[in-house]
Amino acid sequence: MSNHSGSYQLNDVLILLDSYQFFETLEKEKILSLIKGIQKIGEEYDSNNGEILDGIGKKLGICYYYIEFADQMDDYGICTKCNGLKK
Ligand SMILES: [Zn+2]
Repeated sequence: MSNHSGSYQLNDVLILLDSYQFFETLEKEKILSLIKGIQKIGEEYDSNNGEILDGIGKKLGICYYYIEFADQMDDYGICTKCNGLKK
């Protein structure tokens, strides 16, 4: 059982930050570290990475599966490499 409302609450905060162009003020490594920090908070509340990064992960170029930058991602925000590992 995963905490869907908690996941989407974090997702809403990320989308809100993005609407203020917040991520454009950060270096790539800082963005990754921030997203990893948020993912860790989510983990404590049984949230789901795919939902936390829904839409925004792909926009930032961060694969939700391993929370790393990736070049090629599908519409769900998972990179080609991780998608292969999942199956
Ligand atoms: Zn990946």
